[in-house]
Amino acid sequence: MSHPHRFETQAVHAGEAPCPATGALDTPIYQSTTFVSADSDEMASVYGEEKFGYMYTRYGNPTLRALELKMAALEGAEAALTTASGMAAISSAILGFIQHGDHVVASRALYGAAYHFLHQILPRFGASATFVASTNVEEFEKALRPNTRLIYFETPTNPVLEIVDIAALASLARSRQIPLMMDNTFASPALQKPISEGVQVVVHSATKYLCGHGDALGGIIAGPGQFVDSLRHNLVRDLGGVLSPFNAWLILRGIHTLPLRMAAQCENARQIANFLQSHPRVDHVNYPGLPSHPGHETARKQMKAFGAMISFEVQGGYETGKKVMDRVKIFARAASLGDTRSLIVHSASTSHRAVPREQRLAMGVSEGLVRLSVGVEAVDDLLEDLDQALAF
Ligand SMILES: *Cc1c(COP(=O)(O)O)cnc(C)c1O
Repeated sequence: MSHPHRFETQAVHAGEAPCPATGALDTPIYQSTTFVSADSDEMASVYGEEKFGYMYTRYGNPTLRALELKMAALEGAEAALTTASGMAAISSAILGFIQHGDHVVASRALYGAAYHFLHQILPRFGASATFVASTNVEEFEKALRPNTRLIYFETPTNPVLEIVDIAALASLARSRQIPLMMDNTFASPALQKPISEGVQVVVHSATKYLCGHGDALGGIIAGPGQFVDSLRHNLVRDLGGVLSPFNAWLILRGIHTLPLRMAAQCENARQIANFLQSHPRVDHVNYPGLPSHPGHETARKQMKAFGAMISFEVQGGYETGKKVMDRVKIFARAASLGDTRSLIVHSASTSHRAVPREQRLAMGVSEGLVRLSVGVEAVDDLLEDLDQALAF
């Protein structure tokens, strides 16, 4: 092959091949915890890693392997590792870099559990994190210390969809020789390829766009072969957060249609963002595809399309934000994102209720902020649903 196949072709074919024993075209679910060896010598060489083979599913499994090869191809990484959830991927990958006494610089606008892991759990092991409130690369630079061993961020951010300039942050990390890790859950590799921008390690909640159907938790770590191997052999198998073969199969199946779903969801989101922006009951719309968004130009540069997450501020604050949630009929009042179904969350009363009000406001999570994960339904039905929900 003179060049790697295009993204849509890789989403279908990468990592998967017909079963040589049976001809099964789709990747089988290897629902087996253990694997048999022909004789004692073979078993010894598999355990000694002199010979490639499977022994026990916590150490590796062919269905998981197919997903790992596919995700490495899609992210343009040397290797990838699957985990039981996005949080297993994030916590394991961070632990892969951090020793006692080390320091992490991270964006403040992180997924809540990732923030909690860095803020509350790392200090128990003698490491610490500094959080940068802004997406500005200079703020990251100011927070660096001599013992900083990792920079960690997301873009677009949750729930206000700020955009971090990936190449600019990568250039800072490179000049200081600090590894850079990014959570690519919100965009997925269909829209954004962080490794080609200079990020070393990409993590995912595969639960979201990769799976795409809201029926399996999973996580991915993609990065340099040596790093991924070391995580696989020295950390993840001992921490034990291993993906189930059935969930790996659901996620593999989901990825086949990732480019199609993403294209449909981004187009629906674009129309919904435009509708909301001109709605008299809406004060402000956060969507990187809007030319008025402060990160629009950066998003244009680093994303293929602007994603399918939108947040907006309903006039009237906390109570009216909740009211819109109560009035929608198609959007489901549910956490998570990236599903075929459209989902809606009022942040201040749910995902961000534990964050003190002042801090919440500083993060842009205003009282009336509503977050949408736009699905693949007919956009006119979604527009009509929001229109009637806002007519109170
Ligand atoms: C959901 C999510 C996670 C956590 O993933 P789980 O699969 O729920 O563990 C991490 N990061 C982002 C951006 C997410 O949306």
